[in-house]
Amino acid sequence: MKIKSIELKVAAYNKNQYPDDGLTQIAVIGRSNVGKSSFINTIVNRKNFARVSQKPGKTQGINFYLVNNSFYLVDLPGYGYAEVSKEMKKQWSINIETYLNVSEYLKGAIMLVDIRHKPTDDDVLMMNYLKHRNLNYVVVATKSDKLNRQEIQRSLNVISETLEVDKGKIVPFSSLKKTGVDNIYTYLDSILED
Ligand code: GDP
Repeated sequence: MKIKSIELKVAAYNKNQYPDDGLTQIAVIGRSNVGKSSFINTIVNRKNFARVSQKPGKTQGINFYLVNNSFYLVDLPGYGYAEVSKEMKKQWSINIETYLNVSEYLKGAIMLVDIRHKPTDDDVLMMNYLKHRNLNYVVVATKSDKLNRQEIQRSLNVISETLEVDKGKIVPFSSLKKTGVDNIYTYLDSILED
């Protein structure tokens, strides 16, 4: 996989706005502040493509990024942000669930967790949902530059046990050091070739 072009095709606020062109969609999912924007910027090799550290003050749309004119990376709003109202949280989860429920072109998911923290109940719920939907997924453990090698191994065990995911499916990732980028390209290739 080489990423040659990327453009924001649509920021969708309801399902009628989802692209309907038959191209494969791969979702990027995670808690707010997990490093999702940095992850997207790193794999597409652009500094400020996805906006880093947006403080959610309003409902966020689902961003459909068209990559190489051949598939979409679907940037779902980060969940679990503490400082927003219950109603807004509910609206977010409805937006995320609606997408995951109705998207017929969704073929894979990249689930992000912070390597320093045990996955939360929300993460476990999301993971179970991906499994239930029989989606091909990979777990990305972000900010791996913050831990040493031994700590990384320990964290991978915790993530693997908490999410009930094989360790082989977890990629330690650092936007700072660009660790794990090739694993993600391999993953994207495997979904697109399927
Ligand atoms: P988002 O809310 O999930 O989109 O997260 P952001 O990409 O905005 O990142 C949240 C914070 O984590 C920012 O302060 C980033 O600089 C920091 N961050 C993201 N990725 C990394 C990483 O790989 N290493 C380190 N050390 N910090 C990171």
